[in-house]
Amino acid sequence: MKKKHLFWLLLPSYWVLTAVAIIVIALYAFHSMSNLYFQALEKDIHTRAVLLSSQVLPLMEEQRFAEIDALCKNLGMAADTRFTIIMPDGKVVGDSDERPDVMEYHDDRPEIRQALGGDMGIDTRYSRTVKQEMMYIAVPLKSPNDETLCAVRASLPMTDIKAELNTMTMRVIAAAILTGILSMIVCIIVVRRITYPLRGMERAARKFAEGDFSHRIPAQPALELDQLADSLNTMSEQLNKTLSTISEQRNEQNAVLSSMDEGVLAIDKRERIIHMNRVAGEILGVDHHTTKRQLIQSVVRFANLQEFIKALLGSQRPLDRDLTLIGDTEKQVQASGTVLLNAERESIGALVVLRDVTQLRHLETVRSDFVANVSHELKTPITSIKGFVETLLSDDWNHEPDILRFLEIINQQSGRLNAIIDDLLTLSRLEQKEGHVMVETVALHGIIETAIYLCQLQAGKKNIRIDSVCPESLELTVNAPLIEQALVNLIINAVKYSDPDKKILILAEKQENSVVIYVKDEGFGIERKHQDRLFERFYRVDTARSRKLGGTGLGLSIVKHIIQSHAGSIRVDSKVGSGSTFIITLPLQEATEPHPE
Ligand code: ADP
Repeated sequence: MKKKHLFWLLLPSYWVLTAVAIIVIALYAFHSMSNLYFQALEKDIHTRAVLLSSQVLPLMEEQRFAEIDALCKNLGMAADTRFTIIMPDGKVVGDSDERPDVMEYHDDRPEIRQALGGDMGIDTRYSRTVKQEMMYIAVPLKSPNDETLCAVRASLPMTDIKAELNTMTMRVIAAAILTGILSMIVCIIVVRRITYPLRGMERAARKFAEGDFSHRIPAQPALELDQLADSLNTMSEQLNKTLSTISEQRNEQNAVLSSMDEGVLAIDKRERIIHMNRVAGEILGVDHHTTKRQLIQSVVRFANLQEFIKALLGSQRPLDRDLTLIGDTEKQVQASGTVLLNAERESIGALVVLRDVTQLRHLETVRSDFVANVSHELKTPITSIKGFVETLLSDDWNHEPDILRFLEIINQQSGRLNAIIDDLLTLSRLEQKEGHVMVETVALHGIIETAIYLCQLQAGKKNIRIDSVCPESLELTVNAPLIEQALVNLIINAVKYSDPDKKILILAEKQENSVVIYVKDEGFGIERKHQDRLFERFYRVDTARSRKLGGTGLGLSIVKHIIQSHAGSIRVDSKVGSGSTFIITLPLQEATEPHPE
């Protein structure tokens, strides 16, 4: 529908309203005036008839009809009125304009019939006698004994009054037209006064919508419009403030996101990109400015990342994954995904943080290779030093006590060095094999028994008993020698860090989709502050004690690596003075084809 301006909507109705009002007033005025004129004429004729009656009465009583006729003619001439005297039978006995004897009987005239009936009679009609429109008023002339003697009729032509009325009508019409024109002009002014400020406000509102908040609507004379202007101005101020805050926040957010070292990628539920920061663009090799609202598949070409995002959106749970992105160059990326929530804490998609760890991984490899190479290089000389020292310590040599003491120290320290090198080599091997260990399905019971057997000698020296509880049917798909070594490390630690005559318990059980192994001792326990760092390389709670007991500081690192290479986890639960429990969780999985080592 075509929209009209408010001005053109209001104006016609104002005009119609005023036109109707003017017409009604004009008609009413015309009607009242004509009534007034007719009433005045009626009264005038009636008075003339009554005056004539008083003069006709004595003549009528004596039947002097000729005099009556003469009276009519005289008075009619003098008063410019037509007078007629009609007898009850309708016979005309006097008339101001005509000879009565030539006149027809007037008993059929309505005003005469009424007057002869005793009332005043009135009629207006065309008179054939005087040949014009006339008003007739007839009054009964009564004798003293109330007998109707005749009807006295006076009449005046309507021509004057009609002419008068016509003039008046013309004046009323002229006045109405003038008032109409004036009213129309006034209407235009009034409607303009209503619509003009509204148009101003509409223009201002449009400016606000276009973001020009500097504009202000001036004060308005009408209270309601002034309040509206005030509200619009306040709204604009508020909008300005809110938009400034939002834009500030957005700038801050953008600054934070673009100065982050990590790549940030926000995706909605329909897999469209909500935001990608600069670093994410660099990692994925795309221009982050052009990716907004685009489907992730059309921007990110890496199948493994696409699959990660799909899994993240599908699971609606946090996910972490190491990804190798093979493009122009190969990148190692750590992806951490989480659910993206809106202000109402409803999920609206997913947020992925990408960390380029290519350099880190490279350094790790360099470090790992370096440690492996150094260990390899050191292994041969230390083995030969140890061999010669052991030879020198044999009974064939008769050493001075001091030399013997020095040789024993050399032997002890080279033994420690040898143990450290062995552990470092073990760790290197484990690092190289990470995720590629050869597995087979074996009975856990057997592994535990072998581990206990290997530690028995050392435990026996301190009179420590080792018990185990493990269902014989419990089978695991693992690399048995590695799990065995992990258990040996834990049991040896339990022996080392316990007083003599204590007990060690190894407990294994199946829990849902995993097997949990507890290695529990009654030893010294570990303070809470050390527990998180226990599995780091060379981390010791008490270095001196560890060294004295022949520890390398690598035992728990090796355990952690072994368990991780089986996709398991290890934690410690310990209290100083009460003992420690190391808890290993290994996932239950089907046997897979053994990987070549
Ligand atoms: P170490 O060769 O020194 O034993 P580990 O990596 O095996 O090195 O252990 C790290 C440290 O953890 C040890 O130095 C020791 O202080 C503490 N620890 C390990 N196992 C136990 C245990 N069962 N009871 C108390 N402390 C332990």
